[in-house]
Amino acid sequence: MKNKNNLTMEKLKALCNNRGFIFAGSEIYGGLANTWDYGPLGVELKNNIKREWWKFFVQEDKNSVGMDGGILMNPNVWVASGHVAGFSDPLMDCKDCKTRHRADHLIENSKQGKGINAEALGEKGMESFVTDNGVTCPNCGKHNWTGIRQFSLMFKTQRGVTDDSTSTVYLRPETAQSQFVNFLNLQRASRLKVPFGVGQIGKAFRNEITPGNFTFRTIEFEQLEYQLFTKESSSLNDYEVFKNKAMQFYIERLGIDKKELRFKDHAVLCHYAKAAVDAEYNFPFGFGEIGGTHHRGQHDLGSHAQHSGKSMEYTCPITNEKFIPTVVESSHGADRLVLAVLSDAYHEENLGTEETPDIRIVLKIKPSIAPYKVAVLPLQKKGLSEKSDEVFSLLSKHFMATYDDAASIGKRYRRQDEIGTPFCITIDYETLEDNAVTIRYRDTMEQERIKIDDLVNKLYKAITG
Ligand code: ATP
Repeated sequence: MKNKNNLTMEKLKALCNNRGFIFAGSEIYGGLANTWDYGPLGVELKNNIKREWWKFFVQEDKNSVGMDGGILMNPNVWVASGHVAGFSDPLMDCKDCKTRHRADHLIENSKQGKGINAEALGEKGMESFVTDNGVTCPNCGKHNWTGIRQFSLMFKTQRGVTDDSTSTVYLRPETAQSQFVNFLNLQRASRLKVPFGVGQIGKAFRNEITPGNFTFRTIEFEQLEYQLFTKESSSLNDYEVFKNKAMQFYIERLGIDKKELRFKDHAVLCHYAKAAVDAEYNFPFGFGEIGGTHHRGQHDLGSHAQHSGKSMEYTCPITNEKFIPTVVESSHGADRLVLAVLSDAYHEENLGTEETPDIRIVLKIKPSIAPYKVAVLPLQKKGLSEKSDEVFSLLSKHFMATYDDAASIGKRYRRQDEIGTPFCITIDYETLEDNAVTIRYRDTMEQERIKIDDLVNKLYKAITG
């Protein structure tokens, strides 16, 4: 639990459920662990974050293009990528209560393992640490463990009617591989020269067994992945550029507080990687990864060339030099970004006094990614609905807008504050005379009278400015 903004995960979960951001998956059947559904506000927020990412990484860069690959791929893709052999978690079972735990999490969350980077210990080291330090089961408090077993994170399914191994297909555990296997298609079709990049947003699936911390760790999630195909000679410099670009995205485009973000270098690098770093946000449960920048060398294209028998070489049109490009990857989780934005935006403000507090809950989401940009609120139902409908119709052509005519105006403002709507438009009886409305600002609660004719321009400026 953290003290910033007085927020706990329980509070956030309750707000998300009550207001329609995120619901527990298959709730009426008792749920399914680590699955969630996005409601009316959640889908808007997630779409806005994804759109902003696309703009920043793809649209605004003349050396970038996008793609949308399939979830199912030829199983050999996952052999070449190393996922079939090595994409697993080190798990230990408690022999007493039969619960299953990730060894690295078990160590890092134990009092003996405070501050330890468990991954760096390796499998044998983690097993010894648990044994030597008497690390107990967080569920039953006993110390009675099996050894570590590697548990594949890939979901398998069968294709066709037979059940033999040739029909096994996997739900992709990351989106990146379709960017790699399409490298030559993408280059040929876009006629871009190396270095160039490809962005992709899509679902990924991992059979995660550890508790999820709400939507932080789920078995189905969305990734926003960008692969830069570059020259080996400039790749470390590119890595630095993309590492900083990720932070810039979180701070400038998503409005996340810089003080709550940090980099964490990977303790262990894959044999082919020259550098890798996570970007972490300070959630109410502590720092957690929201994205990463990875220098992947020539591993991805090289390995696909080897396994498919197809050349993945690029020919430089200027020098005629042939080479396999180096990949620098910028990878982010849409669901974790939603969670970070919500955690960061949550504020409780006391508008009353110490003796008689009046707490306003307000999500100070950056207007450009807020679910609703504007709420249309007729002061009274009687006689104002026609004009209010007119205003809603005008605004909703430009912005995601909502309409609320129930309860007192004060309550309605609070309702919009709690879901992060940056602007409320109130229509009153004077509006019928002067064609002007009152605009109320979420963060300052200031109000201003403005002509309906000027409204769209004013809001555009306020949202994009
Ligand atoms: P972790 O160490 O938390 O398991 P990871 O290092 O395996 O994450 P990557 O493989 O680098 O994650 O995936 C890229 C991004 O995808 C992560 O930064 C994260 O935002 C997101 N992501 C990964 N696994 C999950 C998951 N189970 N649920 C939600 N998002 C995820």
